[in-house]
Amino acid sequence: MRLVFLGPPGVGKGTHADLLAKNLEITHYSTGDIFREILKESSALSNKLKKYVNSGELVPDEIVFETVKEVLSNEDSEKGWLLDGYPRNKNQAELLDNFLRERHEELDYAVYLYASPEVLIKRLSNRRVCPNCNAIYNLVNNPPEKDGICDKCGGVLIQREDDKIDTIKKRISIFESEFETLEEYYDDAGILLRISAEGNLEDIADRIKEGLKVG
Ligand code: AMP
Repeated sequence: MRLVFLGPPGVGKGTHADLLAKNLEITHYSTGDIFREILKESSALSNKLKKYVNSGELVPDEIVFETVKEVLSNEDSEKGWLLDGYPRNKNQAELLDNFLRERHEELDYAVYLYASPEVLIKRLSNRRVCPNCNAIYNLVNNPPEKDGICDKCGGVLIQREDDKIDTIKKRISIFESEFETLEEYYDDAGILLRISAEGNLEDIADRIKEGLKVG
């Protein structure tokens, strides 16, 4: 199965993409995680990315697409994949479709997770992440067992630079300005699944599986 996960920042794309990919035994790629890994090293690419990622602005399409092409050419992607955080606009969707067409492949679904801005802001400001293994926590709904420490690897949890309130608002507004044409693009292609991401984690995960007819 080949999937993309769409939705505003804070809607839970990363968490649900991870759960679903494990469930379907396909590979989960998050462009945001890939960029944050690159930022840990010092390189020309890392310098270029820093100003976009830390301020919540979109990285230029050509750079993102190079990264996407690279990961989708991995052996790991042969069993199926789920792209989380890509595409962010119609141009990125077209670049992906052209790439897949050349390989005689196609997307099965674009899963759009939505929630109200109030829910998004609450989730993002309570989000903590592990910089070691990329595990995601929420101080209210899904806190770590030990305060500030990752359950999975013992890393020290941090708040992402772009999860500060002003940057959160900016990221949501960038999402909104790009999303309408992207939504239309996948709706026209007949592969858009709209799923409410409000409520508890298990219910949302079930809704996604039902939508994909894998539950
Ligand atoms: P995320 O973890 O998906 O919220 O992504 C974090 C940041 O990485 C975004 O705010 C952008 O700066 C960058 N980024 C990730 N994916 C994309 C994409 N598909 N297009 C442009 N920028 C991206």
